[in-house]
Amino acid sequence: MEVIKNYINGKKINYSNEFLDVYDPSTGEIISKVVLSNNKDFSKTVESSFNAQKQWSQVTPLKRSRIISNYKVLIQENIEELAKIVSREHGKTLDDAKGSVTRGLEVVEFACGIPHLLKGEFSNNVGANIDSWSMRQPLGVCAGITPFNFPAMVPMWMYPIAIACGNSFILKPSEKDPSCSIKLAELFTKAGLPDGVFNVINGNKNIVDQIIEERNISAISFVGSTNVAKYIYEKSAMNQKRVQALGGAKNHLVVMPDANIDQAVDGIIGAAYGSAGERCMAVSVAVAVGEIADELVDKIKLKSNELVVAPWTTNDADMGPVISKEHKKNIENLIQSGVDEGANLVVDGRNVKIQGYEDGYFIGPTLFDHVLPTMQIYEKEIFGPVLSVVRAENYKDALNLVNNHEYGNGTSIYTSSGQVARNFTTDCKIGMVGVNVPIPVPMAFHSFGGWKNSLFGDHAMHGKEGVNFYTKLKTITSRWPENINVGAEFVMPVN
Ligand code: NAD
Repeated sequence: MEVIKNYINGKKINYSNEFLDVYDPSTGEIISKVVLSNNKDFSKTVESSFNAQKQWSQVTPLKRSRIISNYKVLIQENIEELAKIVSREHGKTLDDAKGSVTRGLEVVEFACGIPHLLKGEFSNNVGANIDSWSMRQPLGVCAGITPFNFPAMVPMWMYPIAIACGNSFILKPSEKDPSCSIKLAELFTKAGLPDGVFNVINGNKNIVDQIIEERNISAISFVGSTNVAKYIYEKSAMNQKRVQALGGAKNHLVVMPDANIDQAVDGIIGAAYGSAGERCMAVSVAVAVGEIADELVDKIKLKSNELVVAPWTTNDADMGPVISKEHKKNIENLIQSGVDEGANLVVDGRNVKIQGYEDGYFIGPTLFDHVLPTMQIYEKEIFGPVLSVVRAENYKDALNLVNNHEYGNGTSIYTSSGQVARNFTTDCKIGMVGVNVPIPVPMAFHSFGGWKNSLFGDHAMHGKEGVNFYTKLKTITSRWPENINVGAEFVMPVN
């Protein structure tokens, strides 16, 4: 059986002999084993990252960028293989996996131009013959801890930027689909990245806790569930680390009575059920405003019944399985809670059976109508193909729903009124907002991050926010006087 090791100092290696099973979610079969790293794996990783960073920070930003440009080409050349690795362990369709690798690749493209963003600011003559300027310098060793749902894209939000800024990076990927990270690291070495600048260590909470406590790691980027995000944020701060911790989501898509309903339905179907709802930007709540609700529910029902639920190896699959047997059970329990609490189950995705894949973790599209804010299916992040329709009387009620939910990752509004759209984008307490588009994932040159319980920390990911997160600011004030001796000064210098 294949063993997935760590990637330390340019080599696949493991010191621990403990392993976790990795499953194919389409069949429920064990397909490989991933190492559960021990203290020695960890100390070797940190030693390698610490030594490599000292050299890497001395490489000029332009030379660093050239290596990242080589990496970009290698990812493009290997995109099919990377997507297959993602689909095999995650279960999402091949096209969806390819799309997600491409979104990661866009961050690599952005990172090629980072020398531009590392420029400081300069002021001539802040005092007589005194100049002042600033520069951004790398932090040292940075670490990333990532979730199962985007095994290529989410790590790529982090390490290309950290590395382009002169840091080294340790990635701790999800233990559920760890293979893609190793392939991404191998390709970076092939592109010319010095050994140790990008290391991958596999494991679970044990390694995460060591990362948090390690004094030679300066910063942690985390993406995952909210409880773990809070834990990482609090513990990292206690250990004096810079931290950005992105958590869960419950994204609302508001449909106004004046919306183009077919556009809204297409937006909802793709965003609610794509990747089996396992996206932090999935639409999990459709807020139907006013008299549009009945038509909206009928049309979603019709389209959701047409979706093809199948393993990723099937060409026409619209959505695959969820990640694990336990997760499938959790989703099914939440669906049952919706029924028990009185929501109207319009489409029931339980009991989907696919011939030859009876042990796969499949759940079909599920649709609830008449969901109330007090129900568990509304309050909790389900992270599966379950859409709740909540009926609101008017725009104000819809906005209140969006703003009163504990999560604040993404939201969208479908309307033909510019004024309503403008009010919504201004007044919603959400990090990423769409107008007449499904919940939008910002491009690499903008930044990704939610509000409220969807992000703990000061910086979103990638774009300028990423550069600021992975660098520290230094401001210099300098004078080169010729034969001037001003003597000691005992008052605050002013102009
Ligand atoms: P998770 O929180 O279970 O795991 C994420 C990472 O944390 C993994 O690497 C895991 O090994 C580690 N981990 C798990 N439990 C831990 C613990 N108790 N202590 C320390 N580390 C721990 O998340 P997941 O199930 O892999 O991913 C799904 C979640 O991620 C969803 O909640 C989803 O909304 C969220 N997510 C958020 C974003 C975003 O941008 N906000 C993006 C993708 C996914």
